[in-house]
Amino acid sequence: MLEAISKDHVYRNLIGGEWVDSPDFIADINPSDTNDVIGKFAMATQSDLDRAIAAASAAQESWADVTPQERSDKLELVAAELMVRRNELAYQLSREEGKTLPEATAEVVKASQVFRFFAGEAIRSAGEHVRSIRSSIDVDVARRPVGVVALITPWNFPLSIPAWKTAPALAYGNVVILKPSELTCASAWSLAEVLDKHLPKSVFQLLMGDGRVGAALCSHPAVNAVSFTGSERTGAKIATAVHKRGARLQMEMGGKNPLLVMEDANLDLAVKHAITGAFYSTGQRCTASSRLIVSGAIHDRFVEGLVNVMKGLRVGHALVPETQIGPMVNDVQLRRTLDFIEIGCKEGAELVFGGERLERQTPGCFVSPALFTGTKSSQRINQEEIFGPVAAVIKVDDIDEAIAVANDTPYGLCAGLMTNSLAYVAKFRKQINSGMAMINVPTVGTDYHVPFGGAGASAYGPREMGPSAREFFTSSRTIYTAV
Ligand code: NAD
Repeated sequence: MLEAISKDHVYRNLIGGEWVDSPDFIADINPSDTNDVIGKFAMATQSDLDRAIAAASAAQESWADVTPQERSDKLELVAAELMVRRNELAYQLSREEGKTLPEATAEVVKASQVFRFFAGEAIRSAGEHVRSIRSSIDVDVARRPVGVVALITPWNFPLSIPAWKTAPALAYGNVVILKPSELTCASAWSLAEVLDKHLPKSVFQLLMGDGRVGAALCSHPAVNAVSFTGSERTGAKIATAVHKRGARLQMEMGGKNPLLVMEDANLDLAVKHAITGAFYSTGQRCTASSRLIVSGAIHDRFVEGLVNVMKGLRVGHALVPETQIGPMVNDVQLRRTLDFIEIGCKEGAELVFGGERLERQTPGCFVSPALFTGTKSSQRINQEEIFGPVAAVIKVDDIDEAIAVANDTPYGLCAGLMTNSLAYVAKFRKQINSGMAMINVPTVGTDYHVPFGGAGASAYGPREMGPSAREFFTSSRTIYTAV
């Protein structure tokens, strides 16, 4: 049995195949019950970081030389162990992040599936053989690992995002240093425990800590590539640091995702997808549909339907089976959401439901899902990512206005359309400015075998997931041979 997370224990960083202590630690607090300390997690120091990078550099070549079959087998073992331990890991994830147990279980399963998919990719990752335009010459495009990669991840998917970066990085022969969010170390620590069991020493290392550890990784000359998921603000700092030294960079950032509801949409389905997209996972998803762009002809019925469902949503402790909406991840995020509720009201939007701090049996960061109507696209609640259970309705006349409003933010992660019209679908597919588009499907929930990523301010660099992950985690070498 692997070591269970306990509040009396300091969980250490994984450096060079050893679990390394630290003078300082971060407490991981349950947002459903802030008296519940999940554990204390070591904060990496600069010398930990230097040691980890040296160990990674030393391990790189031999990991790149491991046969595809062996790499694949190891990733398969990781996938299998995550699956076997899914209930335990989901419980821990729900306890530390605040999503409900079914949501947390789905996340663990996805992490396992991602490792299984990339176990296959490790074998499929061949280069290309093409004909030269000249005679008597062969051309090969070979794929090589990038080297030492730093993965910097957020708190809202504390297991699956580390998994969907780590699995392709390892599959293509890179060595990994993971710097997870300081708010949700337990899931990352458990992933490190599993990887440590199945991989050679120093191929995967864990450095926990706050943004300073991430910043130090970004500016270290021996880190060849940085893959980051998090806020746009942090992304801007990372871009400066990484570009300065010419290293490779991939970033997935925020969203202000629209769901367009046209007059011919199936009303019940539109309400259902809006509720799922805006409020489940407490709205703490980069793909959350926080802007509901609704045709005037269906507006009142849609709002009425939405409010009726919202009245019945059960907000509470994430581990209580009846709960549908868990807490916000911490007080800072809760404050931010409540501040935006105030901003929306001051801007003249009408708060038709929710937006109140809630008390439950345990002290937690609970807020009721909020709905604004009568909003304008230019208002802050429609331009800035709130990252909480808040949705704003913008009334429009037709599909052209709906698409123009949908495109009216710097972001472009995911956009949804509810309609039965092929003509609307055709227009939406052509004109929407987003990396992902959903037709009669919620904006949240994506597959792991196809590209994931945004347009505009939501992303930078090659897409994640699916075979496109190869673009970031390998570089090509073109070889000409006289034959
Ligand atoms: P964040 O930007 O505050 O932190 C993300 C990570 O960056 C953390 O590990 C943090 O410690 C680290 N960090 C902070 N400062 C740093 C610095 N100067 N240099 C290097 N690393 C630094 O984001 P968050 O609050 O953890 O996550 C929420 C954000 O993530 C939202 O904006 C959300 O939209 C975004 N997100 C995007 C996706 C996506 O795929 N597009 C997925 C999930 C979350």
